[in-house]
Amino acid sequence: TPLTTSIDGKACAERVLDEVADDVARLADEGIIPGLAVILVGEDPASQVYVRNKIRKAEAVGIRSLEYRFDDTLPQAELLALIARLNDDPEVNGILVQLPLPANIDEASVIQAILPAKDVDGFHRQNAGGLWQGLPSLAPCTPTGCLRLLRETCGELAGKHAVVIGRSNIVGKPMAALLLDADCTVSLLHSKSRDAAALCRQADIIVAAVGRPGMVDANWLKPGAVVIDVGINRIESETGGERRTRLVGDVDFAAASQVASAITPVPGGVGPMTIAYLMQNTVTATRLQRHQASAA
Ligand code: NDP
Repeated sequence: TPLTTSIDGKACAERVLDEVADDVARLADEGIIPGLAVILVGEDPASQVYVRNKIRKAEAVGIRSLEYRFDDTLPQAELLALIARLNDDPEVNGILVQLPLPANIDEASVIQAILPAKDVDGFHRQNAGGLWQGLPSLAPCTPTGCLRLLRETCGELAGKHAVVIGRSNIVGKPMAALLLDADCTVSLLHSKSRDAAALCRQADIIVAAVGRPGMVDANWLKPGAVVIDVGINRIESETGGERRTRLVGDVDFAAASQVASAITPVPGGVGPMTIAYLMQNTVTATRLQRHQASAA
């Protein structure tokens, strides 16, 4: 039997959501209800599920949610016009455009159109740059959730060697910035990296954010390493003539559990933390806008 801890992302997310609900209650005492606008374009089934969960959690913590759904024929100009209206609406504190967008819409232009102070996904270049410069900014939800799991699992992070696999703007790069800010020594790996396994074997902490099922094997791990598996991969399987899809991460969970000291499961690890920090970011954005309004 492995001595490994399965890191309970659901339980940790509930703690974050309790903190957010307290913050929302304090804002309510001042007559403020945070508002989150969620925009979904197209019929991507995974996106539908994510949006539904985000709206449900918002309501659970007392955040007012506004939902905007369009089919994939929505012209980019109309999406930009909606974002401009939401930017100007004082009742809207957070704007989230669910990605991916249909091919006819330029994702980068849409992200840059969101007012940085309302960019609760933390994808705007101003927030991305602010994160690397240590300036107050909205940081992406998934890596922020991973950092919380690491703090609760490892305690002190200073001096630890963290290997992040994947360099997307959504997960890998901001994860590296957050770990650097926590005084880790950070290696950021990607598809051109040579000898990923050997680099991983030197890591105290591994964050896998690639999208390749089972890529990180037990022999990639130093004994006692802490592993955060961000990957969400849908695997088709057939049992007794019945087709089923199940979710797996980028790490071979069963094998890694024999070597790691702690590892996040998929599902039930990073996923719930992402939504919890979206709610936290909505509260942070609300406060940020109040400061900006009172400073103006
Ligand atoms: P992207 O596809 O944008 O990025 C994947 C990264 O992995 C790229 O940087 C790519 O390198 C790198 N990569 C690909 N192949 C290899 C390889 N063989 N060795 C090392 N690195 C490699 O994905 P995302 O960052 O958006 O997402 C990553 C995973 O996390 C996905 O499975 C996604 O579903 C999941 N995810 C989960 C979330 C959650 O809430 N749990 C939230 C967001 C994402 P290069 O840059 O060189 O191409």
